[in-house]
Amino acid sequence: MKTNAPVSVRSIDTYDEQKITEILREQMNTLGYDNAFFEKKKVVIKPNLVMKKAPDAAATTHPVVLSALLTVLGERGVSPIIAESPGGLFNRQRLEGVYRMCGIAEVAERHHVELSYDTEAVFVPFPNGKTVKTFHVIRPIAEADVVIDLCKLKSHGLTKMSAAIKNFFGVIPGVEKFEMHATFPDYKDFGSMICDLCQMLYEQKEIIAITDAIIGMEGDGPTAGTPRKIGALLMSANPFASDIVGETLLGFENTVPIVREAVSRGLCPADISDVTLLGDDIRPLCISDFKEPETAENRATSTLSFFSSGKWGRFFMPRPKAVPDICKGCGECVASCPQHTIELIQKHGKKIAKVRHANCIRCYCCQELCPFGAIEIKKNFIIKIASRL
Ligand code: SF4
Ligand code: SF4
Repeated sequence: MKTNAPVSVRSIDTYDEQKITEILREQMNTLGYDNAFFEKKKVVIKPNLVMKKAPDAAATTHPVVLSALLTVLGERGVSPIIAESPGGLFNRQRLEGVYRMCGIAEVAERHHVELSYDTEAVFVPFPNGKTVKTFHVIRPIAEADVVIDLCKLKSHGLTKMSAAIKNFFGVIPGVEKFEMHATFPDYKDFGSMICDLCQMLYEQKEIIAITDAIIGMEGDGPTAGTPRKIGALLMSANPFASDIVGETLLGFENTVPIVREAVSRGLCPADISDVTLLGDDIRPLCISDFKEPETAENRATSTLSFFSSGKWGRFFMPRPKAVPDICKGCGECVASCPQHTIELIQKHGKKIAKVRHANCIRCYCCQELCPFGAIEIKKNFIIKIASRL
C-alpha cells in the first residue's frame, strides 16, 4: 500500500498540449513511471466521460490532456486501451456518441490507440470491502495491470466533489450504477461503497491518478455546473491522497465525505499537511470562493447534520425539479432514475418531466444525466432558514 505516496502538483492554466505534455513527462519521470515500470503490463486509461458533453463544458476529461498523456506513454512504449462506462445505457451506440462528443474519438484515432467497446463485465471479489464484497466491473478494467485514473476535478451534488476516487464509479457497467444508487440511498453508505470500489482497485492494480484540474466545474456538478479555472495538473500513485489535494484546491478541506472515509480507513494521510507534495506550491492555486453544489450544505455542515441522512434526512435534502421552459421531454431522466419516480406529463401542449418526490432518494442522477440542464435542485425552506442561523 502506497499510503504515503507523493502527489505531484503542477501549475498550468491553459489547455496547451505542448506544455501539458512537458508537465506529464516530468511528473512521470519524478514518480518513477519509466519504460521498466510499464514493461509487459496491460495499461487501461479510465477517463471521466460521464455523458455526451463537449470539452468546453468542463464535465469530462479534456481531450488535450488525454492526447498529451498518450504522447508520453508512447515514449515509454505503451499502447493503452481507453475504457469507460458512462451514465445510462452501456452499448456500442452510446459509447460511440460519448467518445465522439467528448473529443476522445479524434484523439484516439490520431494516436492509433484503441477505444474499448467491450460491454461485458466481470465479478471481482473484494473480501476486505466494508460495504460491498464483490463488484461487477467492466472487463477492460478488471483485466488491466495498470489503470490510469484520468479524472476531472468537479463539484458533485451527491458526493460534494468528484475526482480520482469518484471517477471509479464509471467502472460499474451502465445502468447497474442506478442500482447501486438505489441500494445505497444514504450518501454516507454510497460514499463507503465508492471507497470500497476504489480501495479494491488500489489494492489489486497499479493506479496512476492524474487529475485534470486545469479547468474544473463548480456549482451544480458533475455535469450542470459552471466551468471554473483551477489551474493545476495532479499525479499520484495514491488516488486518495490526490483527492486530499483536490479538496484543498477547492477550499473543501476535510469536508468531502468519500475522502474522509478514505482517511478513516488509513488509505492516505489524514490531512494536507501530511501529504508529500512535489512540484509547485499549491497555496496560490487554492480557491477561496469555489461554489459548492446546492446539496452540499446539508451534508458538510455539522450544525445541519441532523438533516442530512436517513429517511427524515432525505425529506430535508434539496429536491430535483424539472424546469418546464427548459425541459424538452426527452425522457433521459425517466430512464436514469433508479427509483422510477419521474414521469413525462403533458403540460402547456408539450411533454415535460415531473418528479414524484415520495420515492426520490436524492441521488441526483436525473440532474447529472439531463442533456439540457433542465433539472434544478431546490433547497428545502427549513434548511434555507437553518443555514442562515
Ligand atoms: S428534465 Fe431533462 S432529461 Fe428529463 S425529460 Fe426534461 S430535458 Fe429530458
Ligand atoms: S428523481 Fe432524480 S434524484 Fe430522485 S431518485 Fe430519481 S434520479 Fe435520483
